Amino acid sequence: MTQTTPAPTHELSSTQHSIIVLGSGIAGLASALALSRDGHTITVLDRDAPPPATSADEAFTQWNRKGVGHVRHSHAFLAVLYQLLRDSYPDLLQRLLDAGCRELTFEDGLPATLRNTYQPSPEDQDLTILTSRRTTLEFVIRGYVADLPNVTLETGVRVRDLVVDTKTRPPAVTGVMAETDTSPLSARHADIVIDATGRTSQVPSWLAKEGIVPTEETEPCGILYFTRHYRLKPGCEEPSRGIVPGAGDLGYLKYGVFPADNGCFSITLAVPEIETGLRMAMVDPAKFDAACMSLPGIADWVSPDRSDPASKVLGMGKLASRWRSFIATENEGKQCALVTNFFAIGDAAIRTNPLYGRGCSCAFVEAHALAETLQANGDPQQRAIIYADRLEQAIRPYYDSMVKQDKSAMLQAERGVSGAKTASLKGRLMASFAEDAITPAVRGSTPLLREAMKGFHMLEPPMDWLQRPANILRILWMWVRPKATKKHLYPPKLGPERDEMHLRLDAKPATA
Ligand SMILES: Cc1cc2nc3c(=O)[nH]c(=O)nc-3n(C[C@H](O)[C@H](O)[C@H](O)COP(=O)(O)OP(=O)(O)OC[C@H]3O[C@@H](n4cnc5c(N)ncnc54)[C@H](O)[C@@H]3O)c2cc1C
Repeated sequence: MTQTTPAPTHELSSTQHSIIVLGSGIAGLASALALSRDGHTITVLDRDAPPPATSADEAFTQWNRKGVGHVRHSHAFLAVLYQLLRDSYPDLLQRLLDAGCRELTFEDGLPATLRNTYQPSPEDQDLTILTSRRTTLEFVIRGYVADLPNVTLETGVRVRDLVVDTKTRPPAVTGVMAETDTSPLSARHADIVIDATGRTSQVPSWLAKEGIVPTEETEPCGILYFTRHYRLKPGCEEPSRGIVPGAGDLGYLKYGVFPADNGCFSITLAVPEIETGLRMAMVDPAKFDAACMSLPGIADWVSPDRSDPASKVLGMGKLASRWRSFIATENEGKQCALVTNFFAIGDAAIRTNPLYGRGCSCAFVEAHALAETLQANGDPQQRAIIYADRLEQAIRPYYDSMVKQDKSAMLQAERGVSGAKTASLKGRLMASFAEDAITPAVRGSTPLLREAMKGFHMLEPPMDWLQRPANILRILWMWVRPKATKKHLYPPKLGPERDEMHLRLDAKPATA
């Protein structure tokens, strides 16, 4: 909507603003957390009702969260986010732990090959992750944000449009058009508007009406997600760690167990889009459980003696990675903002393949980047450019590396279906470097595993560890070693071959 009335003046200092955040998912909450510390006045609007809950269990069973379709899929917070909570919001981290969220340490994740020789290092504290049901994470963070003095959370508010002043160059967002069940559509003004409405954000279509069109890069993730929740039976404990890991990749199927809060856990099976037979089978709870029982890394978890299912099988498809930018590059590389006083954050800005578990971490990193941007510069155009640049610096290396890995995983899945072998010498060499060098080297060296994990957990660019001479030497040395001397370092068999899995699930194998 084009603005017809001027925005009201706000009694704020030049560095403190009135801010409307659209959406109270992880990114909206992260924005409120990060920005409230600078004294901004923040109103968070969400169309969903608040959690009707006083406990994590009620949040899981009763919270009607239509606005976040994936809220009951497995979630973990990577080490970068755990660290940020620990260092910037220790009282929030404590609340999460009090609610039952779990710290999984670097030592907890060691492969069997390294457990007996493990020597702790102080830096391992920075490799802890946080897991729990996503409803618990969101419920607790939301409660914490609601207690902040300069933040107001409003629920049942549907935002329908932006208010844009098109008389300025570039156009400036000055507010939103919103409605509730009891109040008609009306304008609400603010100095700054943040889009945190997630992966289905309508904001680009609202801006397009004003001629503002962001650039978008979109890539398919190539997988479908299937998640089922379980609860340990009274008196039962989680199984001890075995030889076969609790997460793995069979090419035609990826699996992972997510220990969660209050005696709960979930299992996610990710199936390549091309595996049509497995996709159909996995929605059937009996077949999902049969698939789990055939995977030695998770079979013990879902044994009927140990746990009971606590949900149906939740499926999710149409997964894509997407990078949205509101900056244009003009002649001679000069950057300019397409719109000012507006920032996109979380999935509305950058959406990543859920397999990497990076979405919530990105949202928090972006929220802090935005807070620092507003502190650093008062010029609306410069702010837009600086924010976009910070996201490029902080997230682009992980995004590009993920897109590359996803393409390679899709090729592998295609070969699994067609039965084709890797033909080129380069392809075979790369496969051998991964299987006969990197994998056994990492499984045989705690320092190398630490280095690899820093990249995975967004603590340093994902490929840096593979460029350090000491690491390269270790890996190359492993490559030239005869197989007989390193056979104990190869991963154990993770599960049945593709054909056998189809037989077990009575699924029709996809054909090329
Ligand atoms: C299957 C799956 C598994 C994942 N697993 C992980 C994981 O393990 N770890 C991890 O870090 N990330 C994971 N992610 C990614 C992570 O969930 C997302 O990155 C995260 O939810 C993004 O948060 P958000 O706030 O941007 O969007 P959302 O969480 O989707 O929140 C958007 C909010 O906006 C509100 N809203 C939307 N439109 C309007 C409107 N018009 N008016 C008012 N309110 C509106 C919605 O109600 C909602 O509350 C996963 C994603 C998927 C799909």
